[in-house]
Amino acid sequence: MRASASMVQTDSPLIHAEYNHLMSTFLRFHDLTKSYYEGDVRRVVLQNAHAEFQSGEITAILGKSGSGKSTLLNLISGIDVADGGPIWVDGQNLTALSERDCTLFRRAQIGFIFQFFNLIPTLTVGENVSLPLELNRIPHIHKGAQDLLEAVGLLDRWGTFPEKLSGGEQQRVALARALVHDPLLILADEPTGNLDEETGMQMMSLLARLARERNRTLLIVTHSLETASHADRVLRLSHGELVSER
Ligand code: ADP
Ligand code: MG
Repeated sequence: MRASASMVQTDSPLIHAEYNHLMSTFLRFHDLTKSYYEGDVRRVVLQNAHAEFQSGEITAILGKSGSGKSTLLNLISGIDVADGGPIWVDGQNLTALSERDCTLFRRAQIGFIFQFFNLIPTLTVGENVSLPLELNRIPHIHKGAQDLLEAVGLLDRWGTFPEKLSGGEQQRVALARALVHDPLLILADEPTGNLDEETGMQMMSLLARLARERNRTLLIVTHSLETASHADRVLRLSHGELVSER
């Protein structure tokens, strides 16, 4: 059972602060708009989209190919810039940050899992997973990367290059890399899209379990109902807007 406000019976301010953080809105945006131009033709991808996501909540975002799912994740992570609409992550308006501060914020607080894994081919598995720890100057890099690789069952592939791994293994390394620096927000862009059904289900169970163990906010973009079944809540992106699915 998930916690509800009425379950907390304490006057301790410390526990209240911790609890409020656990249950608070972690990510929200409204009036989020994004269009692309093809020549003179404006293609509206997001139109006044709005949503709120709680700390520790797992949300699946369904939508047809081309509906704007990747665009939405790119805006939330600050990789791409919206035409309008503030995006608040952990109390910070990302759209008001300088490019440098946005990059630093993304590096520290966001873990991104790409559909096509995006592992760096010239780095070993261990080096790929160590990278976010190095970039964030987090100590005990070797131990941190080992722990995550062990969690995804690939510690014995530390010195292997990504091209030697199967798709499912590469995606597990990508998962380890996205979570190794313990970001507060995990964004997964069709993380099972390039995996067979069984491997995809294993990947989703692992991702959902690790996010829940750490009480991290997870957004999974998918067109698979099976993948979405791991979420607390399902939204659908349609005609540029997010609507509740159930
Ligand atoms: P999804 O991830 O749901 O398949 P995308 O967010 O990738 O959809 O794309 C949504 C729409 O925006 C598509 O019509 C796509 O062609 C267009 N689009 C995405 N990125 C760009 C870009 N960088 N330049 C122009 N059009 C783009
Ligand atoms: Mg996409």
